[in-house]
Amino acid sequence: MSLRMRLKSEAIGSGMTSQRVRDRLVERLRANGIADERVLEAIRTVPRHLFVDEALATRAYEDTALPIGHGQTISQPWVVARMTEILLRNNPSKVLEVGTGSGYQAAILAALGLEVHTVERIGDLLRSARKRLRQLGFNVRSKHDDGRIGWPENAAFDAIIVTAAAPALVDELTGQLAPGGTLIAPVGSASAQSLLVLEKDEHGALTQKMLGPVVFVPLLSGMID
Ligand code: SAH
Repeated sequence: MSLRMRLKSEAIGSGMTSQRVRDRLVERLRANGIADERVLEAIRTVPRHLFVDEALATRAYEDTALPIGHGQTISQPWVVARMTEILLRNNPSKVLEVGTGSGYQAAILAALGLEVHTVERIGDLLRSARKRLRQLGFNVRSKHDDGRIGWPENAAFDAIIVTAAAPALVDELTGQLAPGGTLIAPVGSASAQSLLVLEKDEHGALTQKMLGPVVFVPLLSGMID
């Protein structure tokens, strides 16, 4: 069965996870300013309810962050969509994600045909994410490590997405961004964060822009099992 067919059959679901419920989420995202049809299609296709605990599956198509264990969360769909839309602007092919969490953001990027590299510091979350991604047929490269060092062996990346908040931008990550690339990361304290978009031009010069306020779990150092 092709990936598309498999996702289609996964997508049928029932009740609170049905295609109708997902379509409603997509319409809500569109009403809230998400305009890139490729991103909306990816959100429509990737079964978010399979990225959370079964007990939370009925809430998976609400536009809200949900707990995934270890004090971490799967990001709010609007935030996933917005960050993805920004990353797609200069047609990346190779992307690095820091903070795999549930694997949902990685799945969205893979569904868009990108070559995805993702790093997670909590082994238990990474193992669950890998299993889900494999079962859904997504080919994602992942590593258990402190993502603040990026993934130097596989750099440079056309796009880098950080899904946990740091007080300031991490230099190693900026260094692994390819010329013409975009990095997007929540930056700030636990109580006040904004989305930072950094672009590197063909000569390596950087420009930064701050978008609106967001709420993410913190980017922490070291690894745990
Ligand atoms: N993108 C995820 C969001 C997960 S929340 C999703 O779609 O579900 C952020 C994740 O970043 C958490 O799983 C957390 O453990 C991880 N994280 C925090 N600091 C990190 C670091 N230094 N390196 C790698 N992952 C980190």
